[in-house]
Amino acid sequence: MWKIFNLIFPSECPSCNGLTDNLKYAPFCSDCWQSLNHNPDTKRCLTCGIALPPDYAFKCLTCIKESPHYRKIYVFGDYEGTLKTAINLLKFEKVRRLSRPLGRLLSCLPLPPVDVILPVPLSKKRLILRGFNQSHLLCDILSRELSIPLEPNILVKPRDIQPQSLLSRAKRLKNPRGAFSVISPAKRLLPRRVFIVDDVMTTGATINECARVLLRAGVKEVYGAVLARTKSD
Ligand SMILES: [Zn+2]
Ligand SMILES: [Zn+2]
Repeated sequence: MWKIFNLIFPSECPSCNGLTDNLKYAPFCSDCWQSLNHNPDTKRCLTCGIALPPDYAFKCLTCIKESPHYRKIYVFGDYEGTLKTAINLLKFEKVRRLSRPLGRLLSCLPLPPVDVILPVPLSKKRLILRGFNQSHLLCDILSRELSIPLEPNILVKPRDIQPQSLLSRAKRLKNPRGAFSVISPAKRLLPRRVFIVDDVMTTGATINECARVLLRAGVKEVYGAVLARTKSD
């Protein structure tokens, strides 16, 4: 049947250039998608989730030097291969249907219980330019899979900042400072424990700044869940 489908709508897997054989992960083929298994044996920093060299025990040097505001970032995989291609197709080529299988990958992580899930917000300007917030799409799926409410309006980004990807590491660490605000009619209405969800994490400065403003507003515990972590920050 897929051979006939591909004759009418030819589609190539962006990872292996083979033919697409399913609708669930299309345009990826089943083999490439199923090779995306979360590997709990990968040694990662217990705080920020970066892949650790073999001689490191539990934490990376950055987290040893200064503990971030968030408690822990849960990472699905490294930013490479099929995972990287899929995230970039969602984000830059606007293949929005990939948010469903990508969101399901996040739900495979051993996440602790939280009261609400929050997307990393986009500024209004960027939201209009892109047309959607990929983090919000992922949260939507995760919220449904885990039956945890999604709260897209608590954390906001009133002003635009330079895209992190265009900056040096030193500038990326400072850039998100002051970019986010927490909106809550009263402190008692704020959840105690939250998850911030994002697609890619590099230095972690964005989630750390979100965590800083949430804690300052009265949230007690902030965790992060990201699809992919770059191998160096
Ligand atoms: Zn493939
Ligand atoms: Zn770390």
